[in-house]
Amino acid sequence: MPGFKGLAVPGPTNMPFRIRQAMDVALEDHRAPDFPAFTLPLFADLKRIFQTTTGQVFIFPGSGTGGWESAIANTLSPGDTVLASVFGQFSLLWVDLCQRFGLKVDAIDVEWGKGVPLDLYRARLEADKTHAIKAVLVTQNETATGVTSNVAGVRRILDDLKHPALLFVDGVSSIASIDFRMDEWGVDVAVAGSQKGFMLPTGLAIVCVSEKALQAGKTATLPRCFFDYQDMIKANAQGYFPYTPAATLLRGLRASIDMLTEEGLPNVFARHHRLAGAVRAAVDAWGLRMCAQGPEWFSDTVTAVVVPDGFDANDVIKTAYNRYDLSLGTGLNKVAGKVFRIGHLGWLNEIMVLQALGGVELAMRDVGIKFEPGSGTGAAVRHLSQSGEAMRIAAE
Ligand SMILES: *Cc1c(COP(=O)(O)O)cnc(C)c1O
Repeated sequence: MPGFKGLAVPGPTNMPFRIRQAMDVALEDHRAPDFPAFTLPLFADLKRIFQTTTGQVFIFPGSGTGGWESAIANTLSPGDTVLASVFGQFSLLWVDLCQRFGLKVDAIDVEWGKGVPLDLYRARLEADKTHAIKAVLVTQNETATGVTSNVAGVRRILDDLKHPALLFVDGVSSIASIDFRMDEWGVDVAVAGSQKGFMLPTGLAIVCVSEKALQAGKTATLPRCFFDYQDMIKANAQGYFPYTPAATLLRGLRASIDMLTEEGLPNVFARHHRLAGAVRAAVDAWGLRMCAQGPEWFSDTVTAVVVPDGFDANDVIKTAYNRYDLSLGTGLNKVAGKVFRIGHLGWLNEIMVLQALGGVELAMRDVGIKFEPGSGTGAAVRHLSQSGEAMRIAAE
């Protein structure tokens, strides 16, 4: 079909031309004498995206999953207890990884559509007088259900109880799109990937690690090799890597950090919030429900839309792809067939959101879901023009 393909999945996201061009370079010598002049400022500037001055950033060839593994393998010992909660496919897979590493995981089952249960985390941590729990896991943005959790709230609980557990955050679909504060929230390992908020191809696990987590690693005994933080620290200090880095992606990452910094992180977060509001207004106007069960959980990077009873969400997804070249996110695991997901993060503006919503309307009509055509796109236009006006007034 002529025209652009629409990519409205929550990762990989749309890649800016500027990033593509930054990566259109000859392969380079990663042991060249001038390589550190490129990498050392890259590490320093990347820290700003995590909103940290004290954290240490690491860039591994890999994906978000590798970032999860690095957090666990570098800081914990076999048999250690980890507190986690499961409310979607990604929080589930992180728990699975911990179990495969021989950890004892207290995984609290939460209804899909809600997020980290602060009250239950508090109860578990309060009861843990011997401090058996070594790490607490938080999936900041559950991409499978479109649910954002309160990381600062978990920090507050740990501080209130003076519990020394490490705080690990999966920020793969939030960091660089939704506010994330490494230092202020006392996060010990934050995990991101290249193909979501960073607007790059898949291929990098980007993590940020606190001094406390690096200290814990000195006595922790889980085996680690590829993801060893200490090997990275040694080589990175000189501007090099312990093995071949994905240098082409690092060139793209340079452009990504520049773009995020030029726009300004607060503006990046505000843009995501405003565009997400348009998607939510559309879902409301269609008379449909979101998987996220209330505003406290609404995600500014992805919305999972529940199809009415009697419909299969996969039919909407297939129709959108086959007839309109629009990719929507599928329902994963428990919500398969029940939801389709609209990704709204990364390099995105008003008309790209309207294009996705228009495509959803076409596909939903084709499969026979009842709603007023144009109701969702109309509500989105109203939301965008009102919130755009408010932004213009605020800027004056
Ligand atoms: C995409 C994603 C992951 C997995 O990342 P990969 O890059 O696919 O390994 C983990 N957690 C969340 C929240 C994600 O959105």
